[in-house]
Amino acid sequence: MAPSTKYIFITGGVTSSLGKGIIAASLAKLLQAKGFSVAIQKFDPYLNIDPGTLNPYEHGECYVTEDGAETDLDLGHYERFLNTTTSQLNNVTTGRIYNNVITKERRGEYLGKTVQVIPHITDEIKRNFFKLGEEEKYDVIITEIGGCVGDIESLPFIEAVRQAKWDIGSNNFLVIHLTLIPYLAAAKELKTKPTQHSVKQLLEAGIQPDILVCRSEHHLPLEVKKKLALFCNVEFNCVIEAMDADTIYDVPLLMKKEKLDERVLSKLKLSSKNNTELEQWKDFLGRLKNPTQEINVGLVGKYVSLPDAYKSIIESFIHAGAPSECKVNLNLISSEELHPESINKKLEDLDGILVAPGFGERGLEGKIETVKFARENKIPFFGICLGMQVAVIEFARNVIGLEKANSTEMDINTPHPVIDLMEEQKNIVQMGGTMRLGSYPCEIKKGSKAAQAYGKTKNMERHRHRYEFNNKYLELFQENGMIPSGINPESGLVEIIELKNHPWFVGTQFHPEYKSTVLNPHPLFVKFIEAIIENKKNK
Ligand code: GLN
Repeated sequence: MAPSTKYIFITGGVTSSLGKGIIAASLAKLLQAKGFSVAIQKFDPYLNIDPGTLNPYEHGECYVTEDGAETDLDLGHYERFLNTTTSQLNNVTTGRIYNNVITKERRGEYLGKTVQVIPHITDEIKRNFFKLGEEEKYDVIITEIGGCVGDIESLPFIEAVRQAKWDIGSNNFLVIHLTLIPYLAAAKELKTKPTQHSVKQLLEAGIQPDILVCRSEHHLPLEVKKKLALFCNVEFNCVIEAMDADTIYDVPLLMKKEKLDERVLSKLKLSSKNNTELEQWKDFLGRLKNPTQEINVGLVGKYVSLPDAYKSIIESFIHAGAPSECKVNLNLISSEELHPESINKKLEDLDGILVAPGFGERGLEGKIETVKFARENKIPFFGICLGMQVAVIEFARNVIGLEKANSTEMDINTPHPVIDLMEEQKNIVQMGGTMRLGSYPCEIKKGSKAAQAYGKTKNMERHRHRYEFNNKYLELFQENGMIPSGINPESGLVEIIELKNHPWFVGTQFHPEYKSTVLNPHPLFVKFIEAIIENKKNK
């Protein structure tokens, strides 16, 4: 732990889904704007080593970092707000903690001691709390503790937070508790009792929160704030109201209005390095909230019942629409509901179509029909990962005439495996962390749509997949008009495909959505939106 680093821990109470990640990212944004270098990390209480094996229906998107870590989707928010990158160090689960401790035990590192939750598990948690700080790059490290106070699962984390105060020193340590103040319509009253109880639970664990951030659908009257301060043992001006916002990108400004940043700085005895500089952020918000044009885009995938499964894609559209003051109405469409006889009706009002990443066979035929519809009707199309692979399969079947072409993920016996497992993937039996993960280089063909978008011919993009374009078919595809416009210079693997004679038809094997941020919208999303606007004009 660097001696000068300040540590802020954010816990949650009353219910889950209060948006700890957004509050953490917003506070970090405000501190960053005051000239501090800030990192955010998330500690998740579940037993999976990482969320890579979790079903997106259950946990939303799995976010991939530059170094190939499969992480919680909150890390996406951290990157999108702060415009900085995260890594494996920024996301630790109980599973990883126990795995480390048990591995050490097997190595005999505990020298015959009985291995226990306290101190061995808590020591391992604290070691991980402080790892980012060892880089000595950060003035402030914000640690979000997943789950709710009182959950059996998060107890060791809470205990480690209590202990951490003694390691760090109380001047460098702060706890923010995020809680809910529900409104009882019948009584016309905001209720503080659930918050009182959740703070009591923290106190029982030996932690006195310094600041309460209170999610609420209504403004907190003075009396309510006073009551919260009195019963929860916090200073009156440290009861911060967090009203529901129109967009998550409003939250930094709302928190600034509530002086969350000032309270934090004064409690940590920090003085700001420069005046809050949020001009670019405000400019983005201004454009986002005052659109001058509108487009309808279909996002076709199989996890549409939980939009969090496509979090980064949804946010990428928000970032990329703002520069051209374009409101993107995103329609999430289940590919399982798309059949040849009804597809025209379902897709005809769309100005652009994106086929999403995904795994497994379910809904594949609907996706193939979607690509065919976009290709034939010259509707701007963007395929990401599985979406690109489907575009390749569709082209093989309907343009080249390889009727049974498929990916070996969907049909192991296909006579035309146009998408196939990489050689190095063939002998892998373990599921977790074994895909092609993280950042890889790509060389982009001059004059291609991708090159126009990036404005350069080299990029690094993040991957998360096992299957690849099968280069045995490359020539055949090129002869028929599909262009491999991005190639990995080391392996020769196809990273981007495009179509000639189409307004905008681009598929990427990588995931551009992981690199889109508020201040740096991803060029492929920006160009996709521009192509849609242009195409609409020419209709
Ligand atoms: N299932 C495909 C693969 O593993 C695509 C993965 C994805 O879309 N992320 O290659």
